[in-house]
Amino acid sequence: MIKITLPDGSVREYEKGTTAHQIALSISEGLARNVLAAEVNGEVWDASRPIESDASVKLLTWNDDNGKSTFWHSSAHLLAEALEALYPGTKFGIGPAIETGFYYDVDFGDRDFSSDDLKKIEDKMLELAKTKEVFDRKAVSKSDALTYFTEKGDEYKLDLIKDLEDGKITFYTQGNFTDLCRGPHIPHTGFIKAIKLTNVAGAYWRGDESRKQLTRIYGVSFPKQSELTEYLQRIEEAKKRDHRKLGKELELFTFSEKVGLGLPLWLPKGTALRERLVSFLQKAQQKAGYDQVITPHIGHKNLYITSGHYDKYGADSFQPIKTPQEGEEFFLKPMNCPHHCEIYKSKPRSYKDLPVRLAEFGTVYRYEQSGELHGLTRVRGFTQDDAHLFCRPDQVKEEFKKVIDLVLYVFKALGFEDYIAQVSLRDPENKSKYIGSEENWVLAENAIIEAAAEKGLPTVVETGEAAFYGPKLDFMVKDALGRKWQLGTIQVDYNLPERFELEYTGSDNQKHRPVMIHRAPFGSLERFVAVLIEHCAGNFPLWLTPEQFTILPISEKFEEYGKKVLDSLNNSDIRGLIDLRDEKIGRKIRDAEVKKLPYMLIIGEKEMQDGMVSVRKHGEGDKGSMTIEEFKSLLLDEIKIK
Ligand SMILES: [Zn+2]
Ligand SMILES: [Zn+2]
Repeated sequence: MIKITLPDGSVREYEKGTTAHQIALSISEGLARNVLAAEVNGEVWDASRPIESDASVKLLTWNDDNGKSTFWHSSAHLLAEALEALYPGTKFGIGPAIETGFYYDVDFGDRDFSSDDLKKIEDKMLELAKTKEVFDRKAVSKSDALTYFTEKGDEYKLDLIKDLEDGKITFYTQGNFTDLCRGPHIPHTGFIKAIKLTNVAGAYWRGDESRKQLTRIYGVSFPKQSELTEYLQRIEEAKKRDHRKLGKELELFTFSEKVGLGLPLWLPKGTALRERLVSFLQKAQQKAGYDQVITPHIGHKNLYITSGHYDKYGADSFQPIKTPQEGEEFFLKPMNCPHHCEIYKSKPRSYKDLPVRLAEFGTVYRYEQSGELHGLTRVRGFTQDDAHLFCRPDQVKEEFKKVIDLVLYVFKALGFEDYIAQVSLRDPENKSKYIGSEENWVLAENAIIEAAAEKGLPTVVETGEAAFYGPKLDFMVKDALGRKWQLGTIQVDYNLPERFELEYTGSDNQKHRPVMIHRAPFGSLERFVAVLIEHCAGNFPLWLTPEQFTILPISEKFEEYGKKVLDSLNNSDIRGLIDLRDEKIGRKIRDAEVKKLPYMLIIGEKEMQDGMVSVRKHGEGDKGSMTIEEFKSLLLDEIKIK
């Protein structure tokens, strides 16, 4: 008998050679029907693979990330099987699961292939799936593996086998199709009930431009038809919310090839929105004891030699700026931290001065390959809502709690309600790769975990994910479409204080190193605005939105009154405009809806006589008539950040 430990800590005994599927069956038949694979001592295995010794086992279903990726990877095998059946002689590269779905890189030889063929392949896949072909695992020797694919004439698999170690090679067969694969897979193809092949692209074999370009077929699959339908709806919705599309329609930002790829140009409305975000955070930071600083966009080479960044400047990054002075070099600032370390050093610090909190909306530049650039989410120049906290080791927990408060305040004001904190700790097996003393690491790791717990944050702990210079806490946010984004980071750093020889005088009159904490609630303004646009579909919170209302006179006759209303409403917190175009009122309302203007104030004969406005709300419709004062207090109440 062997002992199997389940995730709830319970231990059950089974015959040696039992499988995850049998374990599931012993719990319930319903569970067994849904088990796709299992984590056995942390490694993902086929549900049908015999377990020969004591193990901890986690059964994986569609609800687990590893369950999904096993499902999608198995779907890639099904895709290959369908391709081989439809197009004999097709050669196969690799077919992994990706974040959503899977792909397979294939070589069709001389055969023309286009996205028009995808439907036929989907149908074939579904036909094969219905026959519930079992994924059969078989260990093979290297020479047998080479013989098999030599006979089949698949040079890509031969190329892969070449790098594999004899004794560790497995084949998986389902139906008539055999693939080189280490697994794992779902029990049989019958689990796959809905398939959509989404895209066809070119991909060089092994990512090497000098080698053959293969055809990459992307797809996604689900255990239920309804999940595919929902998925396709989400894709449609995501297209409508794409920040690049909305950013253009709402006139927030633009790009110009002449200015340079990946360098956003903020238009007046986008700038106003961004400035409001900045002043919102500045106010909150001022309350929390931060000092605002400003540093230049470039820094001397010596600064980056000290910080350690110099070593990382390679040929694949922005190149140094030279001056007429022989040997003098400056670099575009990739991060604000080194500059802030020098500000900390500008005067002696005592333990009583700490924490020192230096904040800067600092613009930084990082080279990204042009293929990697994407709207505002991947750019070459961006502004971080950066701050560096320099504190004593005993202050780390309190500082974390304060930053957590600040981040949650930001999320609340902007309508992000679904988030978790991801805490990244050291790998306890490999402590030598981390800089900083054992004592400080223990202190900081506990401080972060306790701070998150005391603030009631839902938290996941990732062991071994810490940077070499310190543990951190990242906020993972789910947007309205259920997509995950990393926003907001709090990172402990033992490296830069060491490199910059930062000090404070302790109560013992001795010199000590402060702990440095990097933090950015937005991350960067560019990326944050992109995520925000997609999260709220361009319907920004009223306090932030560029124009909160528009006044729509029914005809020219009411323009004067309209302008008077505008004058009496506009102040520092309230802003709007008036539509004086010679258009029908219906057209003006439709245009205001498209621009997502939150309120429309319609003005005609009756309104003018009674000194009122007729109010319509975006997406909600008629709100009735009210006085200008009533409308003003309605707005003021709604823009309060509660
Ligand atoms: Zn596989
Ligand atoms: Zn920093």
